[in-house]
Amino acid sequence: MGLSKTIWASPAEYLVRHQPETPVLFFAPAILQATARRFLKGFPGLVTYAVKSNPDEAVIQNLSAAGVRGFDVASVYEIELVGRAAPGAAMHYNNPVRARSEIARAVELGVRSFSVDSRSELHKLAALVPAGAEVSVRFKLPVTGGAYDFGAKFGATADLATGLLAEAAELGFTPSLTFHPGTQCTDPMAWAAYIRKAAEITSQAGVRLSRLNVGGGFPAHRLHEHAPALETIFDMIGQVTAEVFGDDAPALVCEPGRGLVAESFSLATQVRAVRDDTHVFLNDGVYGGLAELPLIGIIDRTEVRGPEGALRAGAPVPRIVFGPTCDSVDRLPGELALPGDIAEGDFVIFHGLGAYSTATVTRFNGFGLLEIATAMALTD
Ligand SMILES: *Cc1c(COP(=O)(O)O)cnc(C)c1O
Repeated sequence: MGLSKTIWASPAEYLVRHQPETPVLFFAPAILQATARRFLKGFPGLVTYAVKSNPDEAVIQNLSAAGVRGFDVASVYEIELVGRAAPGAAMHYNNPVRARSEIARAVELGVRSFSVDSRSELHKLAALVPAGAEVSVRFKLPVTGGAYDFGAKFGATADLATGLLAEAAELGFTPSLTFHPGTQCTDPMAWAAYIRKAAEITSQAGVRLSRLNVGGGFPAHRLHEHAPALETIFDMIGQVTAEVFGDDAPALVCEPGRGLVAESFSLATQVRAVRDDTHVFLNDGVYGGLAELPLIGIIDRTEVRGPEGALRAGAPVPRIVFGPTCDSVDRLPGELALPGDIAEGDFVIFHGLGAYSTATVTRFNGFGLLEIATAMALTD
């Protein structure tokens, strides 16, 4: 999507000047870099970024400038992207299913860390990846805490993981473990349960674990009243690792997507109609930048501004909110409390929309064009 040349003071300044009829995503590099520094300072290990959550080159460049030195990549496209935007950074190819041609290309491009959750994929790696490279066995637990279950697609059971870890070491790979507690995981105990299981798997496999990658899943601030306590999670991860591994503690790695990038983008939509005082129609919806809301719930951190930029201050009224397409699925979940004086032409700004928003926009029904603007700050 590329950076625009002008840096705006705030979304309001841009909206008043341009009166955009397409949705606008505002990016604040300063917020992204500050969030990166929060992870780098608080997390007791290597911080890497899960590129899929927002693959914008400017995002990767800003994370790199802030000191992020590793990236979780899932495709050759993402490997090439990181190679361009953050040359020399470590790349962890942690999509556990890959074509042989993709593995070969990744090795050519310098990738030396791969995750695996099945025997057949481990054997593919053995045929194509030089000995000494890291193989992280991905395991899963039936724990909850995330917004939806990441174990439904990937992750070996503890028994299978034990066998894979021992075999990876025998094959001459550097043995590591990895897990993902589920995206938008607000319960620090989910990490604790996984780390305890990782210690059991390691001792049963009889290997010295090189690294433990505790995944992404770090929550973003979606609901006004629940600002996530990232430091509580970081501390829990460090404490439990020291407790269960003792002197043999592996180096820690994390690979947040959402937790790093969500806060640095806000989406401005425009009200096309307020009908019968109950339904609000916006120019963006679930086929565009708001695609994730039906999956993981509403973001109530919104502000509504009139065309001249003033905040609407009417008492909040719950509204049913629709996107612009003719598909009845194009509706935000539940109801959204919006100021009672909201009117056609107003802008509704959703904060915390940097993750899984730009990446999944479609052009369904002819909508989905998104402008990008850079701003110093996203709120007043
Ligand atoms: C998507 C993904 C992440 C990032 O997850 P978030 O919930 O956005 O932090 C990290 N690791 C892997 C392997 C993933 O697939």
